[in-house]
Amino acid sequence: MKLIILGAAAGGGFPQWNCACANCARARRGDPAARPRTQAALAVSVNNSDYVIFNASPDLREQILATPALQPRSGLRDSPIAAAVLTGGDVDFTAGLLNLREGHRFALYAGRRILDLIEDSRIFRVLDGGLVPRRELPVDMPTRLADGMGRDLGMTVEAFVVPGKVALYAEDASRTDFGSSEGDTIGLRIADDAGKAFFYIPGCARVSADVAARVRGAGLVLFDGTLWRDNEMIEAGLLPKTGARMGHISVSGPEGSIAAFAGLEVGRKVFVHVNNSNPMILDDTPERAEAERAGWTVAHDGMEIEL
Ligand SMILES: [Zn+2]
Repeated sequence: MKLIILGAAAGGGFPQWNCACANCARARRGDPAARPRTQAALAVSVNNSDYVIFNASPDLREQILATPALQPRSGLRDSPIAAAVLTGGDVDFTAGLLNLREGHRFALYAGRRILDLIEDSRIFRVLDGGLVPRRELPVDMPTRLADGMGRDLGMTVEAFVVPGKVALYAEDASRTDFGSSEGDTIGLRIADDAGKAFFYIPGCARVSADVAARVRGAGLVLFDGTLWRDNEMIEAGLLPKTGARMGHISVSGPEGSIAAFAGLEVGRKVFVHVNNSNPMILDDTPERAEAERAGWTVAHDGMEIEL
């Protein structure tokens, strides 16, 4: 199974178009230790021919242009993208679908509530249901992936609910339970027929007992690396929201992901969905060194992993 990290940054990317924080300024200057990153997405193939993309970031067009494996192979119109699987309903995870509107047939998988959010939006009607069948991805039940014609893709996905929050645009001012788990945020276990498997959890508010039990002993986990500290965006004056309020666990601290994964005996731990405010996004910071000492890799765009 081959994985290509299409985008390793959180929403906004790195640098973010309207952000002048020190990190973004370094990326914009072309500083080699501040490598630009697009918004989080992943491509996976079991045959190096058909690809499933996990989340459709607003940068999907740029990601396809940067990834030869996702470009046309034969004929006048062609794409190796056979299916798309969404782990959340936020714009960061769905807007890229609009880039796939030129008559290409592929299957779209997502949880019921996310499919409903997409159906409720008239903009997404550019994806003709006849060409782009919507398929519900149930939780806690292995789902065999197939392309838009129903052809088997050799991949089984199991979705499970992780602590998260509702999509930003679906937030209701009357609600205060943003940390709730209602199926809006899911993690995935992705497996091939040779017994290789990994976890993709780009958004997660907390390593709950259930999440810990699932990933314990896994060979590979790609996990939410949004913020280093819960209040880093507030301290930097960027946004009046904590990580917890945004549905993202912090990397550092006693409640953070480094601590939570410490005893879980995961073979390879990779941070994805890294926000531009997170100091570990830079190659030369003490925070990056600390993450690496704890056995983590900070993903970058174009990074490939062979399982
Ligand atoms: Zn920034």
